[in-house]
This record gives sequence, C-alpha cells and structure tokens, in this order.
Amino acid sequence: MKILVINCGSSSLKYQLIDMEKEAVLAKGLCERIGIDGSKLTHKAEGKEDFVNETPMPDHSVAVKLVFDALTDSAHGVVQSVDEISAIGHRVLHGGTKFTESIVVTDEVKKVIRECFDLGPLHNPANLMGIEACEKVVPGKKNVAVFDTTFGMGLPEKAYYYAIPTEYYEKYGIRRYGFHGTSHAFVSKETIRFGQLDPEKARVIVCHLGNGASISASIGGRAVDTSMGLTPLEGLIMGTRSGDIDAAVVQYIANHENKTVDEVLNILNKKSGVLGMSGVSSDFRDVENAAREGNHMAEVALDAFRYRVAKYIGAYAAAMNGVDAIAFTAGVGENDKVTRKLVCEQYLSFLGVKIDDERNNVRGEERLISADDSSVKVFLIPTNEELAIARDTLRLI
Ligand code: ADP
Repeated sequence: MKILVINCGSSSLKYQLIDMEKEAVLAKGLCERIGIDGSKLTHKAEGKEDFVNETPMPDHSVAVKLVFDALTDSAHGVVQSVDEISAIGHRVLHGGTKFTESIVVTDEVKKVIRECFDLGPLHNPANLMGIEACEKVVPGKKNVAVFDTTFGMGLPEKAYYYAIPTEYYEKYGIRRYGFHGTSHAFVSKETIRFGQLDPEKARVIVCHLGNGASISASIGGRAVDTSMGLTPLEGLIMGTRSGDIDAAVVQYIANHENKTVDEVLNILNKKSGVLGMSGVSSDFRDVENAAREGNHMAEVALDAFRYRVAKYIGAYAAAMNGVDAIAFTAGVGENDKVTRKLVCEQYLSFLGVKIDDERNNVRGEERLISADDSSVKVFLIPTNEELAIARDTLRLI
C-alpha cells in the first residue's frame, strides 16, 4: 500500500510517496513559488534521475496535478497510475479544541480547519488549500488530516490552562496546544522502542531543536507537558522566535516604538531568537561560526538557547517526578554534538546525566549517546514527521 504525504504552505507544497510495507520513501519533492512567477517542481525518485518542471503553478490545484503527473510519469515516476496510491495524509497545523486525533477529511472537518484560521493564520489556510486541491485533482481518494496539535490535546488541565480568566478559554479556546506534535509523538515512541524502555511507564523528554524548537515530556508516549502554547511562539529560544517572554514587553515596545501589537508580535516571531540576539542569522551554523570568530552576542545567544533547553529539561524532570530518557531530534538536535553535550553536562550532571563523547560523535542516526553509567539514557533519534503522518493515514483508512 502506498500513501502520499503532503505538507502544504501558502506558496509551497512538499510531498513524499511512501511504500507502507517497507516504510520506504519511493519519491519526494517540492513545489515552490505557487501563485508567484517562477514556479518550480523538483522531484526525486529512488533510482531515477531528478526531474525539474518549471510549468507555471497559478494555484495549489495545478501544483497537485503536476505532483501526480510526476509520480505517474513513465520516465521519472514510481507508480503506473494514481489508483496505486491508497490515500493522502495532510499535515495540518491547528485542530483547535475539536480534534484530539487525526481524522479522515469530511466537509465537517474542513469547516473546523477553517474555524481555526485565526489560531494558525499562516498555515491552516494553506493546509486546507492542499486538501481541496487533492479533492479536485483526484476525486474520491481519501484525505486524512494529521494535526500538529494532537499530541498537546492530551495534556492534563494543569499543563494546558493559562492562568488568565477562564472565559477566554471558553469563548476562544485560548489554551496551550503545543506544536511539532507529530514529531514529539513519533520520537517519544521511537525512543521507547529503540531504547527498550517500559512502554507504559517510561518518562521521556524529547528536545525537538530545529529552526522552530520545542520540548515535551511524556510518560509511556502520553503527553505530560510541552513547551509551545497557543501558538508556536512560547517556550524555547528559536531561530527567529523569542520563546517565553514577559507579556509586558509587548506593551513596552509598542508604546515606545509606536507600533501595534501585531507589529510587535511579528518582531517576536520573525526577528527575535538567536537571530535577534546575535544580529547574525537564524541559522545555528552561522551563529556558531560567528561565536567562534569572537562575536560576543552570538556566543550569548547560543548560551541562552542551551540554557533554556536545560531549564525545560529540569522542569520536565520535576513534572514527571523523574526522567528515564532524553532524546534529541531535528536539525540542531540531530547534527550539533556540542549543543547536546553542553546541555547535558553543563546543567544536568546533578541528575547523573553523562555523555559518551565517542557515541555522541554522530549525526542523524538513531543512537544511544550517554555513557553506560549515566543515570538517564540520552539518545539521538531522528524525527520523521512524514512517516508518522503516513502511519496515521494508513491506520485510519
Ligand atoms: P525547521 O524544520 O524548523 O525549519 P530543521 O529541523 O530543519 O528546522 O533545523 C534547521 C536548523 O538546524 C538550522 O538552524 C540549522 O542551522 C541547524 N543545523 C543543521 N545542521 C547543523 C549543525 N551541524 N550544527 C548546528 N546546527 C545545525
């Protein structure tokens, strides 16, 4: 059985076709500049030459049509006809309070995704466009929505309520939802499987450290806490996001710089984080290079980033009354051995965490990186959100 996974942005569409028997990627690609001049589809298939198609894509339906054409093409395709593709799994950012699970798309589901436009203004409209484009191009094929908020919907009340008047939760659903949910669910389960931990009781902290960064605590794969909130702004310091901040900062900047709340939020989302602190870049590699060359604020930004990760690990160890395993994942987590080592050894040795330098000298591969006498197991577990979406899709059809 083959499942197509689609991650649709406002002007882009990423896809993977996955063979579920072997859980292997048959083809993957990216449509860029949808609705803008210079549209481009780049398609890569196992054992075939890469294919680039620069046909204009005025909207997402044309992009989806070109994806299906590429997948079924006699030269660079991987299936003979669309009938071989059993269903389509869509990444959807926000499911609001309505969805606690992935779900087969119906008119009612689309209505709720639309109702959540306010909560995910950049992503939900694009995600819905991707779904509707598939309905138009391959009518009758099942579409499944996999929400980034599903994992966070499992949080206990003490973790998801904000300490503000309850009427705002009741009227608008203002609560902590958490994001990167598909990744946290996937990596926490994979940590238990790979680490041969107790499937019911293992207390796992997952550090998803990419350009967007978040951290979660779970017991036996069930969510206990997660660092992102109503939106992905809360929690860790990220590439361009501030993470946790005193809300009064918004008022102060707005008043002194004559800006609206929206403008200040834009600064906190897009111009802050390690970019804002260092003034160098949102890319951690650039910030690391700048720090190495003696840029003081680049060094402070990296220190602050690692410090915040460690503080959350400490808090989540308390939230679960202990921790059995810590897993690092995503761009920085999978590639940056220095960050993994410093987070663990600079701040967590009081928990008995010890990194084995030789094991830690690794990138992007499942591995135990703690020493044998570490009291908490530390792993590198690459995330695979597409596979997680495909598995959910298969389960639901
Ligand atoms: P997102 O999916 O949120 O865009 P990724 O998970 O792809 O982010 O992570 C991107 C980040 O990973 C970039 O900031 C990049 O600098 C960082 N990264 C990749 N390789 C390394 C490395 N070797 N050392 C440090 N950071 C790295």
